[in-house]
Amino acid sequence: MNENSTKCIFCKIAHKEMDVPLEFEDEQIVAFNDIKPAAPAHVLIVPKKHLSSANDLTGETALLVGRMIVTAKDIARKKGIYKKGYRLVLNCGEDGGQAVGHIHIHLIGGRKLAWPPG
Ligand code: AMP
Ligand code: ZN
Repeated sequence: MNENSTKCIFCKIAHKEMDVPLEFEDEQIVAFNDIKPAAPAHVLIVPKKHLSSANDLTGETALLVGRMIVTAKDIARKKGIYKKGYRLVLNCGEDGGQAVGHIHIHLIGGRKLAWPPG
């Protein structure tokens, strides 16, 4: 935890300060269902380390983001949406529609998704 992360809701979930059932956990990542699902499957893949957004990424965190994507794919397989397809979304900043200031990837699927997004 650091100064930015003490009140961060995703830090609280990742560090078990909130009782949220996890779909996945390892030493670096947690995943849990979105509280307001946009589709039948909607899981958030969140690093335990507090990074505010994609703008905080560097070469040093590239492996972590790769792991988040592989985790999303594994969860999609577990949820049975792997073959039909799904969408991975990483919103960044105000115009990107980011509401929670802790980097996360949305795994969304279980129905046909429209493109382009609004
Ligand atoms: P974004 O707009 O990309 O920042 O996405 C934030 C997502 O976090 C939204 O889809 C919210 O529904 C979801 N969310 C916010 N608070 C919680 C929570 N306590 N548990 C699960 N999902 C949450
Ligand atoms: Zn955080």
